[in-house]
Amino acid sequence: MAVAVKPKVRAKEYKPDYPIDWCPGCGDFGIVNAIHQALARLEIPRHKVAVFGGIGCSGKAQYYVNTYGIHTLHGRPVPFAIGTRLANPELYTLIVSGDGDSLGIGAGHFVAAGRRNVNLTYILFDNEVYGLTKGQAAPTLPLGLRTKAMAMENIQGAVNGLMLACATGYTWIGRGYAYNIKQLVDLLVQAIEHPGLAFLDVLQPCPTYNNLHTKEWFAGEDVGHPRLYDLQEEGYDPVIPEDADKALMEEKMLQFYRKANEWGDRIPTGVFLVNRNVSTFEERLAERFPAYKAVAPAKQPLADEDGTTLADLTPIFQEHLV
Ligand code: SF4
Repeated sequence: MAVAVKPKVRAKEYKPDYPIDWCPGCGDFGIVNAIHQALARLEIPRHKVAVFGGIGCSGKAQYYVNTYGIHTLHGRPVPFAIGTRLANPELYTLIVSGDGDSLGIGAGHFVAAGRRNVNLTYILFDNEVYGLTKGQAAPTLPLGLRTKAMAMENIQGAVNGLMLACATGYTWIGRGYAYNIKQLVDLLVQAIEHPGLAFLDVLQPCPTYNNLHTKEWFAGEDVGHPRLYDLQEEGYDPVIPEDADKALMEEKMLQFYRKANEWGDRIPTGVFLVNRNVSTFEERLAERFPAYKAVAPAKQPLADEDGTTLADLTPIFQEHLV
């Protein structure tokens, strides 16, 4: 008897059938390519994925992953993603957002997401500039630097996305590079599989507006060696186990702090932190409302077999009678 073989999911299934509209050489291409490959490696059907983008060049990424998705408002992909994931816990939910979108106008949502630890994958397109609006300084551009679109040096300090993610409760934190697709796919697979909120900072050259931190700069042409190195290749262990005591927690946090603040001639990539000590928001909800998993909104029937709505709004109206 022939055994049915499940068709293999291929990366091209997630690709759009229309052109991608970014500048030639933009690092965004590498990130989207890696998302396609990671979803294919995990063999996740397209209808089980939802991608949410904010505003900026990065926000367009959700159009280029052929799954469900919404191009939301500036800085607002987080609440859309959290609502969707809680309504349908079977959806793999991804956020694609730039450093301006996430750490500028969306910073409040970035922080709130960490406190909840909902099972999401947050991908930061980190290029230090607002590319879509012609290259102004974004929140990750270091103090004192001046890219070609700026009239003067940056007068504000940079936000360290890794540190902010750790301080606010993200339970998986990593960093990749848009032109190292092999590593980026591996990181994305781990981030998507992580049962909790995963933050992946992706260093992404913007060849049009960021003339400082270019492909050549990351390759270390001025210092004679590649700036980027892989933490795991150096034996760095990011895991805080479930039964970690206070001393181990402190040791892991100190280790994280050192690596998250390393920048310049050597820049770490890879997995910085995996914290298994924090419950997910879904677990907290299920504890408070034991029926949550069974009655998650997306699982509730909307209408009976005749098509008549099952929603009964009478109690709500009665509550507001005057
Ligand atoms: Fe990419 Fe920069 Fe062009 Fe935007 S402006 S598409 S980030 S190269």
